[in-house]
Amino acid sequence: MRFDILTLFPEMINSYVNLSIIRRARDAGQIDIGLHNIRDWAVDKHRVTDEPPYGGGGGMVLKPEPIFSAVEDILAAQREGQTAVILMTPQGRPFTQTVARELTQVDHLILICGRYEGVDERVREYLVTDEISVGDYVLTGGELPALIVLDAVTRLLPEVLGAAGAAESDSHATGLLEGAHYTRPETFRGWSVPEVLRSGHAAHIDRWRRESALRRTWQRRPELLLTAELEEADKRFLARLARET
Ligand code: SAM
Repeated sequence: MRFDILTLFPEMINSYVNLSIIRRARDAGQIDIGLHNIRDWAVDKHRVTDEPPYGGGGGMVLKPEPIFSAVEDILAAQREGQTAVILMTPQGRPFTQTVARELTQVDHLILICGRYEGVDERVREYLVTDEISVGDYVLTGGELPALIVLDAVTRLLPEVLGAAGAAESDSHATGLLEGAHYTRPETFRGWSVPEVLRSGHAAHIDRWRRESALRRTWQRRPELLLTAELEEADKRFLARLARET
């Protein structure tokens, strides 16, 4: 899968994509990342990429020409496959695990990072195919949102995570939050790891993990239980939990 990220600050992105899982996925050829400075497509001699808004008001707005040219050049060099051109914006559709999974089906993502007051409206109207928000808050630029999308999508690609199926039990993968994890030592400051996790009994451990996930979701995000896929045993456990609390 290929990602092309358009930004005024490629160095912000560079350090992140050269470490850890993203770095490994790049080295293994599972993903390919192009970082592009929007300024490289500015046409005038001062390489201007932003101007004050028509109608007055504070702040600057990213000009349309460099963004259109950058996307068109990237698309012209594009191999086969399906491309999504995504504007990072707090006004976009909310980014969730479901959206991340949906994006794994696309061969090529072009992520446009806004700055200042945002981008000229014609980019939104005539260039992009999707708009994504990473939450109901406003960040200084689209670089962190683009990295969030890149990271969340990459770790869902087949073979990217080392342990097979690791992403399958993550929070939100099945509509639940993931249950509790423990590691060594067995007892820390008098707090012990639950006995069942040390029992070696695979079926009991699976059930404990499932109930831990159900309990956690019930406590923190009960609305998720309305749409999660639940087995009869899950429903019985939740009913017991409801009676107890
Ligand atoms: N004036 C804009 C508004 O009120 O909608 C916000 C502009 S923000 C300061 C600058 C850029 O940061 C945006 O163009 C966008 O690319 C990015 N950005 C900020 N918050 C974001 C969010 N929650 N999700 C995605 N992108 C965001």
